Amino acid sequence: MDSNSITDTFRRPLRDLRISVTDRCNFRCVYCMPKEIFGRDFVFMPRDQLLTFEEITRLASIAVGHGVRKIRLTGGEPLLRKDIEELVRMLASLRTPDGLAPDLAMTTNGSVLAQKAQALKDAGLNRVTVSLDSLREETFQAMNDVGYPVAKVLHAADVAQAVGLGPVKINMVVKRGTNDQDVLPMASHFKGTGFILRFIEYMDVGASNGWKMDEVVPSAEILARINAVFPLEAVVPNYPGETSDRWRYADGSGEIGVISSVTQAFCHGCTRARLSADGKLFTCLFATAGTDLRALLRGGASDVELSTALSALWGGRTDRYSELRGARTPRDVSHTPKDPAAAHKIEMSYIGG
Ligand code: SAM
Ligand code: SF4
Ligand code: SF4
Repeated sequence: MDSNSITDTFRRPLRDLRISVTDRCNFRCVYCMPKEIFGRDFVFMPRDQLLTFEEITRLASIAVGHGVRKIRLTGGEPLLRKDIEELVRMLASLRTPDGLAPDLAMTTNGSVLAQKAQALKDAGLNRVTVSLDSLREETFQAMNDVGYPVAKVLHAADVAQAVGLGPVKINMVVKRGTNDQDVLPMASHFKGTGFILRFIEYMDVGASNGWKMDEVVPSAEILARINAVFPLEAVVPNYPGETSDRWRYADGSGEIGVISSVTQAFCHGCTRARLSADGKLFTCLFATAGTDLRALLRGGASDVELSTALSALWGGRTDRYSELRGARTPRDVSHTPKDPAAAHKIEMSYIGG
């Protein structure tokens, strides 16, 4: 480990930074931004509260100086942030203490990706992950809850692959009784295409999606269902702390992943920090409060002061929520993600996936 790296109380280094660039989204996925909470009256962040691209890049640069090797842009829907290519260009110019460019990726719902893919590639983005929960129109449109069609997401993923933003990963959140019957059709569709399909266990993130354990389809069940039709073999992880367990088809026709955040917590290897669009740093996806780095930035803190704050924050990290998870998240319609003082978990659309 290089001398600038920082480790937390469980000796986990800081390696990944997920940056949410907006809390807004043009989808209302039922597991993330349910309409009854994120409706017309919901108050999103005012523009002046968002970190500017210069502020984001400054914080990212300090994090890269402390061991971050992977940066993922997320949201909300990151491609809704105006001139996002410019931020990509700025982040792509960062260098680790060893002189390497950090790996730069984005997770997107794909709705604006076909138009933006080439510009993102030219700006220095390495890869994209596209979210798609079903190939059946009725199911997908009910899950994104704005009637967005499957074909447009598939087209966007194709364009991203064609311009070199691959291998494109496809994220499918599996919810029992909603889209679990789509596991095999999705596997079959993407097998042999070069896309890497990843099945994500439905998580109890935030406090608005009314999560219940019996709606989680354990990754072991997903793998068993696929393996019964298309035999699978385990692949060794790309790097320690990788969130996704990798598997490949025994016939050589590609790879899939499962993200078992509920049934097989991977906190012991968790090297991720998350920066919200308004500049709060969270050391866990399930945190109830973040540290306000925007206040430091706008209060005139020097790079040394920011660096010291980051080291202290990560150095004191004790998070392992998934390993300690309880049984159920209560549905709380009064929840406001902008009130971290409340004893609520932060919403995925705020903190970024
Ligand atoms: N809007 C972009 C998108 O959907 O790809 C990026 C942000 S979204 C919060 C990031 C990822 O989190 C998506 O792949 C989404 O499916 C996933 N996600 C959101 N809520 C989730 C939940 N409750 N459980 C598991 N995954 C979730
Ligand atoms: Fe939007 Fe992504 Fe959340 Fe769906 S999962 S509502 S696309 S932020
Ligand atoms: Fe990391 Fe928190 Fe998720 Fe555990 S629960 S893997 S500490 S983000």
